[in-house]
Amino acid sequence: MKLLEEKILAEGHALNESILKVDSFINHQVDPQLMYEMGKDIADHFRGQGVTKVFTIESSGIAPAVYAAQELGVPMVILKKQVSKTLKTDVWQTQVTSFTKGVDYELTMAKNYISENDHILIVDDFLANGEAATGAVRLIRKAHATIAGIGILIEKSFQPGRQKLEEQGLDVYSLARIGKMDVDLIEFIHE
Ligand code: 5GP
Repeated sequence: MKLLEEKILAEGHALNESILKVDSFINHQVDPQLMYEMGKDIADHFRGQGVTKVFTIESSGIAPAVYAAQELGVPMVILKKQVSKTLKTDVWQTQVTSFTKGVDYELTMAKNYISENDHILIVDDFLANGEAATGAVRLIRKAHATIAGIGILIEKSFQPGRQKLEEQGLDVYSLARIGKMDVDLIEFIHE
């Protein structure tokens, strides 16, 4: 997506060869118009595939996920990294290792927001090692629901996330794919 690539080049900062900081428009301050355009683009890719819900992992995937869900006319569900005391219903859980924080967390959702009739689109901000997305895939499969695919804002294609997901037969749709990165260098791939 040209708009996102331009924004990354203008405002993104590669901290090193593996971490991209996009705090001015995705992870801290949020650009709502860009979020809308990105959510709509992801929805357009998966439109007509019978998606019943959009799932995201808190917190930076929420903005594009809600716009994608609105476009598809379906609810959006936030998978929790921290279990709140108010989440007292039966839950599905799976352990995930965080790429940026290097710690494990229990990805959690209430069982009453998923059923075996659901066909789910997963949306997240980054795809790196694929831990977060494969965690979401495990949760969905525990509930015997099916997966339409995974919509990602920024994929770091030099990390193994896409390959891991594609090996499971999943459709990965990324709006920007970074092939190479370092301080003062960001190169996109278009395949
Ligand atoms: P994965 O689970 O694919 O290894 O990593 C995905 C998660 O880690 C994303 O949800 C995102 O929160 C975080 N992440 C991975 N790489 C980056 C990065 O380069 N920059 C930022 N800001 N977050 C990242």
